[in-house]
Formats: sequence, C-alpha cells, structure tokens
Amino acid sequence: MQRKKIHIDKNILTADIDKGIIILLTGNGKGKSSSALGMVCRALGYGMQIGIAKFLKGKQTTGEDIFLSKQPNVQIAAMKTGFTWETQDKILDTKMALETWDKAEKYLNDKSIGLVVLDELTYMLNYKYLNKEKIINVLMNRPKNQHVVITGRAADQDLIDIADTVSEIKDVKHAFRANIKAQKGIDL
Ligand code: ATP
Ligand code: MG
Repeated sequence: MQRKKIHIDKNILTADIDKGIIILLTGNGKGKSSSALGMVCRALGYGMQIGIAKFLKGKQTTGEDIFLSKQPNVQIAAMKTGFTWETQDKILDTKMALETWDKAEKYLNDKSIGLVVLDELTYMLNYKYLNKEKIINVLMNRPKNQHVVITGRAADQDLIDIADTVSEIKDVKHAFRANIKAQKGIDL
C-alpha cells in the first residue's frame, strides 16, 4: 500500500495540465447519457454554464428534460423531430441534425460555456447526417478550457482519436430483456 501511495502521489504531481477535455462515452451498455448528466450536475454545482445538444428525438419526455429546463445556467438544443429508433427519413433527419448541430456549434464557439454535451452524436456521423471533418474541426478549435461530453454507441475511430477520455460501457445485463419496462427516474 505504501509503494502504491508513493506511485499515485507521484502521478498526481505530474498531472498538472489544466485544460478542457473531450470525454467520449460509447458501448452498448446503459449509462452513457446518464453519466453525461452526472457531469452536468457537477458542473452546475460550480456555477458553470452548460450547453446540451440532443441528437436523437426520444418518444418520451425524460426526467432530466423537466429538471434541466428549469435551470438558468443550462441551454438545450433538442431535435424536435427526426431520427428515432422507429422512423428514419433521411432528408428530414439530415435537416434536423444540421439545425441541432448549428446550435451545438454556437455552444462550441462560446467561451462562457464551460461544458457542452453532444448527446447521441455518434449516430449522426455513422449515418452520415453530419460531416465528420467539419465536426472534428469545430471540436478541435473550441475554447481552450471548454469540456465536451459526447455519447452514443459505436463511436467513430476519429472521435476516439481526438477524445482525451474514452469509456466503452459494456452491456452485461439490462432489465428490459427481462420484460421490465423503462422506469421513471432510471431510464427516462
Ligand atoms: P442512459 O440514458 O440510461 O444512460 P444510454 O445513454 O447508455 O442510457 P442509449 O443507447 O442512449 O443508452 O439508450 C437510452 C435508453 O435505452 C435508456 O432508457 C436506457 O435504459 C435504454 N438502454 C440502454 N442500453 C440498453 C440495453 N443494452 N438494452 C436495453 N435498453 C437499453
Ligand atoms: Mg443515451
């Protein structure tokens, strides 16, 4: 334990860079968007300004939609319609993705915003609704101290390459497969 402590203390001293980071949460398990919201909660605790862009239109209003819409420090850009798991209409989806991206880009150009969440962005690249090079360029040129959390399954390798922290959440078990419906406060 003593040797471990010396090692950890040394690493803590070496980690002295202070900068905005990109966190990418991917994989098939539950916990990507809710982890992003956990970081929103942390950032709000410090009085930071937050920008959230949601790139999938969910069928149901979620608990966080209700909570965050009342937070003065949070701006949200959500797709009004467009890609859902059920319906796919390429022309409409692309239009909606671009509209949401325009708002996300404003957050990514605004240095007063300390944390930007790009929820379910990975699908927009995988389905080619948005231009990957353009997105990567905007992400790389964002304000120096701004953090970004990107969520979604099957993240593109180029997103993995530009991210500072990448977690792949593994699906070991999900209650849904035991016929338990989505639960308020947990799944929505
Ligand atoms: P959450 O928002 O709960 O953190 P997530 O962002 O990791 O989940 P998504 O793929 O965005 O996962 O799916 C969102 C919804 O689908 C949530 O209601 C979540 O509980 C559910 N879900 C996530 N993963 C699975 C899975 N492996 N099987 C069934 N349902 C899932
Ligand atoms: Mg999600």
